[in-house]
Amino acid sequence: MKRLRINTLLSGGTVGQEVAVGGWVRTRRESKGIAFISLSDGSTQDNLQLVIPEGSPAFRNLAHCNTGAAVKAQGILKESPGKGQKFEVEVSALEVFGDADPVLYPLQKKGHTLEFLRELGHLRPRTNTYGAVFRVRNVLAHAVHEFFQERGFMWMHTPIITASDCEGAGDLFTVTAFDLGKSPGSDNGGFDFSQDFFGKHAYLTVSGQLEAEFLAMALGDVYAFGPTFRAENSNTSRHLSEFWMIEPEMAFADLKDDMQLAEDFFHALCKSVLEKCGDEISFLEKFYKRTSVEELKELAVKPFIHVTYTDAVRELERSKEHFEFPVKWGIDLQSEHERYLTDKVFKGPVIVTDYPKEIKAFYMRLNGDDKTVAAMDVLVPKIGEIIGGSQREERLDVLISRMQQTSVPRENLEWYLDLRRFGSAPHAGFGLGFERLVQYITGMPNIRDVIPCPRAPQTIKF
Ligand code: ATP
Ligand code: MN
Repeated sequence: MKRLRINTLLSGGTVGQEVAVGGWVRTRRESKGIAFISLSDGSTQDNLQLVIPEGSPAFRNLAHCNTGAAVKAQGILKESPGKGQKFEVEVSALEVFGDADPVLYPLQKKGHTLEFLRELGHLRPRTNTYGAVFRVRNVLAHAVHEFFQERGFMWMHTPIITASDCEGAGDLFTVTAFDLGKSPGSDNGGFDFSQDFFGKHAYLTVSGQLEAEFLAMALGDVYAFGPTFRAENSNTSRHLSEFWMIEPEMAFADLKDDMQLAEDFFHALCKSVLEKCGDEISFLEKFYKRTSVEELKELAVKPFIHVTYTDAVRELERSKEHFEFPVKWGIDLQSEHERYLTDKVFKGPVIVTDYPKEIKAFYMRLNGDDKTVAAMDVLVPKIGEIIGGSQREERLDVLISRMQQTSVPRENLEWYLDLRRFGSAPHAGFGLGFERLVQYITGMPNIRDVIPCPRAPQTIKF
């Protein structure tokens, strides 16, 4: 008999139906000649109770049904007398595929720390916490596509290996086919990349934006959603070396349109999670007390608060808080400043706009004041920046002079300038770090706990 997933069975099953389920044993107990197994198959936050009466032939297999064992059970769906569960299965046949030695299996009891579980990257998806987080992650990924597809944005696959190194978004990983032990040197002692696979120094991408721009300048509204890489040596709770980024890019759009898109997007994602992952959020709320269903309901409709960089700095200067990094107009906002704004001043997501041009990338559109650019960052409580976006500079002369000022070499970017030479148009977009979003919505304190295989300095075991 083909197995039913526990989520399907709980939502669509009928009493008296014969079913088969497969999963991993969470707990087993016996009482008055009846055995009970609590089974999880990863499809839902709920475990399914299997009831095995003493007389049943299934009873003989129970000895191997330890915590962690993989089993398949067949039986009849019954209304459950226990509270908190709708159904249970009265088992007639029980097959044990792989048992789990009770002395060796590391996930015996609840209550392991997240740090301990990080060392068990291959087993942690079987815990309630990671099961919940990864199901939310999946729902969010789907919701991303749903949101853009419904609005006519085309999903474009921007490259993972690239030669544009000048975006300035962070440190890069080199991609090479050299055998590093015996590769040809160049005059200045480094590698001679002209003899490497691509004939050029190649990197793992830090962002798909520049490519998304030329696609938007042909297709209109597009989005990239793929992995990005940064070799920054930052051991923080919100940085990964490999993370997924969502980057919409819109033709004939300005900063206002961009901010509206970011807000609508954020609201839609919160709504999807509420609709499809209420149990997961409630579970995480109970254990980690960071994000709650109530809070998400509010986030799903609350308009973002808008503040200019200049006003935000004024707010920070006025505060009595002691900051490690002193505040004055022109500084890049540090995480302590961002959190002060979201957690203490505005108490919710905030969009900060119009940053000084000196601290932002060369491609952001210069404002009329000649000092600031049409940039926007979305900051959220507890985490800080989750979205960074801007209207792009569409004027050729301004872009060239910004590149000169910021020492961005032109030779690799003539194609980018072409977009301003031929049929240039106002356009705008943003980048949202997918893991930061999952982190914010699930309330997980560390970004390493929202991706199955986190990559960070000195971290690549799984
Ligand atoms: P931060 O200042 O927090 O390092 P950033 O300014 O480097 O961020 P951008 O280059 O604007 O970020 O990237 C766009 C988005 O990608 C950010 O808003 C954030 O959500 C996400 N992001 C950036 N770096 C990382 C990282 N190392 N790990 C996970 N997400 C990241
Ligand atoms: Mn960064």
